[in-house]
Amino acid sequence: MEKIVYLDNAATTKPFGELAEIYADCSQNYYNPSAVYGGAIDVRKKFESARKNIAKFLGGETGNIIFTSGATEANNLALSSVKFRGGQNLVVSLGEHPAVYQKAKTMQNAGTNVTYLPISADGAVDTTRLAEYITKDTAMVSVMHVSNETGAINDIKTIAKFAKKVNPQVIIHADGTQAFGKIAVDLYDLGVDMYTISAHKIYGPKGVGALWVRSGVRVVPTAIGGGQENGLRSGTENVFGILSLEYCAKRVVQELPQNLEKVAAYRKDILSALDASGVEYKVNGNGSPYILNITFEGLRGEVLLHTLEADGIYISTGSACSSKKPDNRTLRAMGLSDSQIMGTVRISFSAYDNIDTKFVSQKLIDAVLDLRKKISGRK
Ligand code: PMP
Repeated sequence: MEKIVYLDNAATTKPFGELAEIYADCSQNYYNPSAVYGGAIDVRKKFESARKNIAKFLGGETGNIIFTSGATEANNLALSSVKFRGGQNLVVSLGEHPAVYQKAKTMQNAGTNVTYLPISADGAVDTTRLAEYITKDTAMVSVMHVSNETGAINDIKTIAKFAKKVNPQVIIHADGTQAFGKIAVDLYDLGVDMYTISAHKIYGPKGVGALWVRSGVRVVPTAIGGGQENGLRSGTENVFGILSLEYCAKRVVQELPQNLEKVAAYRKDILSALDASGVEYKVNGNGSPYILNITFEGLRGEVLLHTLEADGIYISTGSACSSKKPDNRTLRAMGLSDSQIMGTVRISFSAYDNIDTKFVSQKLIDAVLDLRKKISGRK
């Protein structure tokens, strides 16, 4: 089989090869960390040290890490932990991942007052309009740090500062799944109370993540059982997952500057090649260089995806369905039309793959020109 050029790293990343060593160690030292014999206590010590280190990598040493099965569970746990008293509202942005957005919808259906923050054409929450949505009755604000669709970076610091000013009791949560290890994250500087991360977006295994919680902030557990994670998330700990998350977190934080430079160059190369080719395109969202969300109006993103797949290049569409009416809540909230949404693809980079951007750009340009020719021939 030909070599695959994997450019769907916002969906998941290729795990670091070094995780095999962690796995080997965990399969030798497989004891249940809740047990009281020496071997089990050693396992426990390792992941308690991982907990401390991960909080440190986030710039939130004195906060608490609760390990979960990933970002979806961490986001759900965050939103479930806040009590909304008499008409108090939950504020989320229209660009949230379904793990926040659908959870908020479910809470709304059950009677919670939910307010949706609009996003601007650049994909980020418009911080000049916060006063219209965040009030003294806002009990919680949950806004993602970086969009999984467009890479747009939200100004969490400004949002948190504003919300705390109008209601000092407000709880600020940010879904940092696409941010941590990719852009600089310092939780005390951001001013959040809760922050979500996931291992498989930073070259770790699927099915493990964490919710960071500021010390003193209440968490209401949803998984009740044996009392692990200080009673906040029961279930025998995913030791391999947790130790892997620690390894990956350490590495991506240490290597962040050179990684950023590498993926920014990939992005720049592709855009320069598109410019030189004269192909018409529009970039959506300007933030994290890890994600290039791009519209080729008039084309079907899905057809473009499969054309590139035939050349061994894996990307993603910007449209969640292949029916006549395309949908993508984020792109729609940014003001894109049906035909723009239909013609949108997402290319997302890994800092640990070496990409031949010349090859990728040429295949992309060829595919766009060829599909445009076919379409105009049909008209
Ligand atoms: N939030 C964001 C921003 C994401 O990109 C993702 C993964 N697509 C999730 C949450 C869900 O993460 P997980 O797969 O770890 O549950």
